[in-house]
Amino acid sequence: MSCDLLQLATPGVASLQPYEPGKPVEDLERELGLKNIIKLASNENPLGSSPKAMAILNNPGDLARYPDGNGFRLKAALAEYHGVQAEQITLGNGSNEILELIARAILTPAHEVIFSEHAFAVYPLVTQAIGARAVVVPAKNHSHDPHAMVAAVTSNSRLMFVANPNNPTGTWLQRPELRQLLESVPDDLIVVVDEAYFDYAQEPDYPNCMEWLADFPNLLVTRTFSKAYGLAGLRIGYGVTHRDLADLLNRVRQPFNINSLALACAEAALQDSEHMKRTISNNQSGMRQLIDAFNTLGLEYIPSTGNFICVDMKRPGREIYNRLLHEGVIVRPVDNYGLPNHLRVTIGREEENERFIKALKKVIGDS
Ligand SMILES: *Cc1c(COP(=O)(O)O)cnc(C)c1O
Repeated sequence: MSCDLLQLATPGVASLQPYEPGKPVEDLERELGLKNIIKLASNENPLGSSPKAMAILNNPGDLARYPDGNGFRLKAALAEYHGVQAEQITLGNGSNEILELIARAILTPAHEVIFSEHAFAVYPLVTQAIGARAVVVPAKNHSHDPHAMVAAVTSNSRLMFVANPNNPTGTWLQRPELRQLLESVPDDLIVVVDEAYFDYAQEPDYPNCMEWLADFPNLLVTRTFSKAYGLAGLRIGYGVTHRDLADLLNRVRQPFNINSLALACAEAALQDSEHMKRTISNNQSGMRQLIDAFNTLGLEYIPSTGNFICVDMKRPGREIYNRLLHEGVIVRPVDNYGLPNHLRVTIGREEENERFIKALKKVIGDS
């Protein structure tokens, strides 16, 4: 038997690099035998899940039954929350799944997909898995360049991803420039505006694309319960778009793509505005705490409106990352995003930020 199984890959899959997740705490415990590890590497909510969502776990319902494959209750709650029709909503196993579904529903290898340099790593993954062509538009000051992205559109372009704010940079497009981008592209180019960090973005010029769905039938807005809502482990997110596009997404999804617990916990989390308030307030003070420390240390950073910030270490970020691991602090190297000297740090609780700052001072001082 000597069949080279790797040879069986389709051309797109053959050149795929798997997604590199943040290092789990358990891995580092095993590898270095450390205790009291803190993880500021995956933009999770440092305050945990909403207590209202956690309460579901005491009364989880009948897990012997399949979940509601149509997610009726959660879609109704989301429709009311956003002022849209339930038919416009597609639930996903994380918003990541919505990014995959749209790619699968409308792309062929003949198509081009446009996104920015330094943009979220899942965009090239879903593009290449289909065998479509990724058109990576150079960033401007680490940010999406909306004019260049519009200029990159050709008759083969079928899909554009805009991360607002972007991960890992935290940069965002303001209301007029994003609106203008949507007005400038052809009607048959689907624009996904990925709003995974919507609730953290508190700048007055930051646009809410849900308000523009009626103006742009080619707009697909994605949101998630993984970040500010603190339910990353349950895997649930959603997309909102024109009902016809939602119909296409619904055709390609698994019949029961969202589990019962995720449906119930997301519904509870959506109602917990107290937890959301605490989450945003912690993020704002934590962001100031990190920025103050970077300024004191003379380190430059990319201004971010997310719950994370990229700081320029002026030398390979992966070195500093590895040294921080030995201090029990997990952050995220972003060399795979074309940012070899930066580290992405998730805003934690005050004491976690303090530990990170202390560890950072130590490893910089040591070298
Ligand atoms: C985290 C993230 C997502 C997806 O997260 P899910 O857990 O799949 O909902 C999507 N886009 C961006 C930019 C992200 O950072």
